[in-house]
Amino acid sequence: MALPPDDAARQLAPYAARSATSRGRRFDEPDSPTRSAFQRDRDRIVHCTAFRRLEYKTQVFVNHEGDLFRTRLTHSIEVAQIARSIARGLALNEDLIEAISLAHDLGHTPFGHAGQDALDTCMRAHGGFEHNLQSLRVVDELEQRYGGFDGLNLCFETREGILKHCAPQLARGLGDVGERFLSGRQPSLEAQVANLADAIAYNNHDVDDGLRSGLIAIEQLLAIDLFARQMREVRREHPAIGERRLVSETTRRMINELVVDLLGETARRIASHAPDSVDAVRAAPPLAGFSEPMRDEQAKLKRFLNVELYRHPKVSAVMDDAKRVVTLLFEAFERDPGALPDEHRLRTESLGARAIADYIAGMTDRFAIKELARLGLGGTLATLEPT
Ligand code: MG
Repeated sequence: MALPPDDAARQLAPYAARSATSRGRRFDEPDSPTRSAFQRDRDRIVHCTAFRRLEYKTQVFVNHEGDLFRTRLTHSIEVAQIARSIARGLALNEDLIEAISLAHDLGHTPFGHAGQDALDTCMRAHGGFEHNLQSLRVVDELEQRYGGFDGLNLCFETREGILKHCAPQLARGLGDVGERFLSGRQPSLEAQVANLADAIAYNNHDVDDGLRSGLIAIEQLLAIDLFARQMREVRREHPAIGERRLVSETTRRMINELVVDLLGETARRIASHAPDSVDAVRAAPPLAGFSEPMRDEQAKLKRFLNVELYRHPKVSAVMDDAKRVVTLLFEAFERDPGALPDEHRLRTESLGARAIADYIAGMTDRFAIKELARLGLGGTLATLEPT
């Protein structure tokens, strides 16, 4: 039989996370004979129910608006691809970064940020709702697949990467993964890079999806240097290029420019701090990052998307309806927990409103709409009816 893949034998930098020196899982389990601990985490994530649900959860455009728009599933795969490329360039642990990337949005509600905001408002009196914390809850508690424990029993390093941010008062209740929010320490470089790969992925695919939708136009984007610079280059090389290809060529070059900048700046910071272990990374200031000019350019692009796309009247109208779906569902279940499926109704006896939030957060967009109809509350949400 082949030897188990041991990431210590691969060309990892001294500051990379290693499964051989992982802080381990919450419940002891024998090692896999064929996979490293982080490969196994990645596999557990890919096989879990919450991962499959990402296919029908909104990124920006709800599912019925078109087959070609990103969903939370394709977004997560793009994040993993970008993160792995950067990890390889820095000799980081690709298995760990892939696991973190694929899991980072598992706790997302239906209907993207509108759904999360609505659920947070509903949960205000019960500790609020935050999708990042919910992703950790999914992998620690909500998935039910294993005989010996709830959740996926992932390694500390994967869980540390999933919990990107957390308010100190909540961090106190989270044990080991909450500690860094109280002590002001950083997570592993794999976690830091996955977080930035998330931003690279959504900024660029939202440009692509936004243009595809017709809600934003190329002319508007020419005010953004990062975009304009690459587009000019593409036009110079391919004067007769059609619009679809022009957009693809431009966004792919933007991604590349961001990745190259991130690699350069991060390598520079690593060289100046010379961390010799993942714990040295945790004690240092943030080591992964863009150069300052690129940070400004990214911020400009982000602001543009915020104003012109995410708050476009057409997107806002859909998102207002989405908020109503989530709010109506929450209120209906809070009024009458008997309307919940048995398994979730039972959980309200010990968890109260949190069990309702868990149920709603797990829904896909279309399941949420179906549930509303089941409760006799549907039928008034014009923007959410498939056309
Ligand atoms: Mg994301």
